[in-house]
Amino acid sequence: MESVSDKISNLVDTITNKSGNETLIRQRKAEESKKTRKISAENAKKRRVIVEKKKRAIKDSLEIRKKYDGLMFLWQQKLIESCSSLSLEQAVRYLSVTSYDEVVIERNTQNLCGYPICQNKIKVRLISFS
Ligand SMILES: [Zn+2]
Repeated sequence: MESVSDKISNLVDTITNKSGNETLIRQRKAEESKKTRKISAENAKKRRVIVEKKKRAIKDSLEIRKKYDGLMFLWQQKLIESCSSLSLEQAVRYLSVTSYDEVVIERNTQNLCGYPICQNKIKVRLISFS
């Protein structure tokens, strides 16, 4: 049979253990939230680095685009004035279907054959519907 003092002693032990566990749990939680905070700070830093890289990539690609458009315009000018087949070969690397069409249209408005290496004038025929 347990004596009253044993019961008290057991209860004290239980409470002490329990509060000891709670302290331990609290400590672990604190450590974990510290870790979590550290991880989210690291993630935020990583995200900032990624955003910066993306911004730089967009800026670079815009600059490349601008240079490319400039080159495309220069080649268009060259083709409109007539050029060698070698120049045409080089030019097609910088021209899109649309920008080449613009060359053909521009040459036609100057009564030139649309084919940039051809020097012929186009014959304007007036069609009469009678
Ligand atoms: Zn022609």
